[in-house]
Amino acid sequence: MSNAMTVDVEDWFQVQAFAGTLPRADWDGFERRVEANTDRILAMFADAHVKATFFTLGWVAERHPALVRRIVAAGHELASHGHWHRLVHEQTPADFAEDIASAKKILEDIGGASVQGYRAPTFSINTRNPWAFDVLEEAGYRYSSSIYPIRHDLYGMPDAPRFPYRPGAGRLLEIPMTTVRLGGRNFPCAGGGYFRLLPYQLFRAGLRRFNRVDAAPGMFYTHPWEIDPGQPRVAGAPAMARFRHYLNLHKMPSRMARLLRDFSWGRVDQVFADALAGA
Ligand SMILES: [Zn+2]
Repeated sequence: MSNAMTVDVEDWFQVQAFAGTLPRADWDGFERRVEANTDRILAMFADAHVKATFFTLGWVAERHPALVRRIVAAGHELASHGHWHRLVHEQTPADFAEDIASAKKILEDIGGASVQGYRAPTFSINTRNPWAFDVLEEAGYRYSSSIYPIRHDLYGMPDAPRFPYRPGAGRLLEIPMTTVRLGGRNFPCAGGGYFRLLPYQLFRAGLRRFNRVDAAPGMFYTHPWEIDPGQPRVAGAPAMARFRHYLNLHKMPSRMARLLRDFSWGRVDQVFADALAGA
């Protein structure tokens, strides 16, 4: 069984944890590290013979078109993380429609590949904004991977389905982030900050259990800034945001290498091809 390997392509100053400290109007003034970091990830995937899905910000694609073309040329799936990394539940349906349409067009024009997938910034589709799924479908997306069925202070929808489902009026497929169910509770097993916080062996046991007990492919995500201990430190950000963002960055390259070895990985559109086709 293959699991889906995904990367949310954004830079260190675009993460939600720093949104209150680093306003969007200032983004163009910051040192951009996303291209070099994504190239390192591309090299890791090439070494491990892994194809993946890259949920890329339109903002990043506009400034790094050659990177987008390298992602496509290496056989990876190009997908959308929206344009401005705005939380979906802080946008009107009209603003959201514009953000996701603009990102899709920019990515397709630059990458020369069709963009079918979308991931909401900080998993910000939830019970407050179910309309988002129909807006995605109208914009031409075929799937979303935006729901994390866990309880968390910043995101999560603990009662959402744990497996692919069609949440809107049409055919759009939501592919939730992986959780391990134990004692009536969902535990996160999809990457991100938890992957840096918990011992690697615990994560590996969780994903193995999910593949075995739930007999389903998992969904893993990481970010280019997670392998970059040299990124500028955002001194003014809240202590919890800083703790989560900078924790164990130096351990990531070796952890990712093990993860790529210990499981079989693929692109979202291929790993979930049956679900997408409706089988
Ligand atoms: Zn993001």
